[in-house]
Amino acid sequence: MKIESTKVGEFDLFFLHDGEFWLDAGGYFGVIPKVIWQKLVETDELNRTVLKSNPLLVCNGEHNVLIDPGLGGKYNDRQVKIWKIKNQASVIESLNALGLTPEDIDVVVATHLHFDHVGSCTRWDKDGKAVPVFPNAIHYIQKAEWEDATHPDERTKGTYFPENYLPLQENALIKLIEGNKEILPGISVEVTGGHTRAHQIIFIRSGGQTAVYFGGIVSSVNHVKLAYTMAFDQYPVEIMQQRKKLYKRAIAEDWMVILEHDPNHRAIRIKQSERDFEFDTIKF
Ligand SMILES: [Zn+2]
Repeated sequence: MKIESTKVGEFDLFFLHDGEFWLDAGGYFGVIPKVIWQKLVETDELNRTVLKSNPLLVCNGEHNVLIDPGLGGKYNDRQVKIWKIKNQASVIESLNALGLTPEDIDVVVATHLHFDHVGSCTRWDKDGKAVPVFPNAIHYIQKAEWEDATHPDERTKGTYFPENYLPLQENALIKLIEGNKEILPGISVEVTGGHTRAHQIIFIRSGGQTAVYFGGIVSSVNHVKLAYTMAFDQYPVEIMQQRKKLYKRAIAEDWMVILEHDPNHRAIRIKQSERDFEFDTIKF
């Protein structure tokens, strides 16, 4: 398994893999009409398009920080079919390819608690009980996100699965945080809302460079344009407003923007176009 990497000051960033899944392409593009999005992505016979699960590992010799571990491998046959899931829980293989095991991870940060981001935080043991995958890691989660995930409504219950996060609480592996916080020197979170009420993005800053894991703020290069939000975004207007603010900072400070679901682009730079925003791919 090939793992691309880059450096941000003292940090090594490794672009891990945790499989792929397919979602309804109409839902993936929200209010954008099919005549437009059908030129951007391929679809299968059920109108689905492919998303990758793209965890990020950040290391500095002292800490191994895993951001959004990914889909994981607790899916039944019906779910595998609905989402056409492939290469389940391959984040473990990604770590092994770097000479690491799940025990080596000491910090996990989740942008939010949807299954495709934290499914990898637990696995089924031989008795069919969900147990933590990263037993030595403190998992940093926004308190309001925890509240929403543990009290889902009719709209959100299809994406919040308790077996992905309750075992972390039972094993005292969760640190609930409120608002913008520094997790470790050089690694911090900012709450953006938008995709979920308390969605957070993760900043890696060192040596004058900045990389930002954008989570649900921009899922793929096809979601860079301001109005290209997903039907799965709970607060799409808030995403547009956040993008305007974040893009301004991203351009001024030359951020490396890391994408959570793009099948072909792991990181981009945002640039202004005449009427909207565009991107340049970063090659490693
Ligand atoms: Zn999500």
